[in-house]
Amino acid sequence: CGIVGYIGFREAWPIVLKGLKRLEYRGYDSAGIALIDQENLNIYKKAGKVKELEDFSADKNLAGTIGMGHTRWATHGAPSDRNSHPHTSQKGNLSIIHNGIIENYATLKEELISRGHTFSSDTDTEVLIHLVEDIYQNNKIDLTEAVRLALNEVTGAYAIVIMDEENPNQLIAARKGSPMVIGVGQGEYFIASDATPIVEYTKNVIYLNDNEIAFLKRDELEIKRLDNVVQTPYIQELELKL
Ligand code: GLU
Repeated sequence: CGIVGYIGFREAWPIVLKGLKRLEYRGYDSAGIALIDQENLNIYKKAGKVKELEDFSADKNLAGTIGMGHTRWATHGAPSDRNSHPHTSQKGNLSIIHNGIIENYATLKEELISRGHTFSSDTDTEVLIHLVEDIYQNNKIDLTEAVRLALNEVTGAYAIVIMDEENPNQLIAARKGSPMVIGVGQGEYFIASDATPIVEYTKNVIYLNDNEIAFLKRDELEIKRLDNVVQTPYIQELELKL
């Protein structure tokens, strides 16, 4: 239901946590966060309120200048800790948060199971990150290209953010039928389902269009369409109504 992402030079946890609180008005049943500290991916997730995630995480390792958070409104799989986002790939290095529904997840899940994948949630979302991993491992391509190819195989609506523990210098975001805004800072980028988590950091935003994927590094942004055509990012100035 709600998405927040950060890559830059500041600690990601306070930014993502505050962003999740700003998105609470959308309604949700669970919350979770993923952070990469040096080369370690840490994921904390809980059914319940953002405050419960905050309390649960208080004594954990919350370091990292790249991170993402999610508030879930369950569509596939009951609200529970294990069905909360972020979800991870088989190997565990790739993680995803997702708003929306992957309609053909059941067919994809069957194929992936026949290729040896095992799943640890009942969600449609987990299937998507395993599909990305499967395509990534079976072809000699970049993760960015694997995400593009995977998205070409799914039907449904989504806003997603993907992080790779093996490349802590990149966030991948994409949308189709579910809103997503990118905040453009200096040496940092913000991602959110709407501008409310972003306004206090930057006024410069890009509204991602349907069928677009954004590849975000700390000081570099590329946007492509699902059909592989590179797009020129259109940066708009937010009208601040604080
Ligand atoms: N379909 C996903 C799930 O049930 C995402 C739901 C949402 O938009 O929060 O986990």
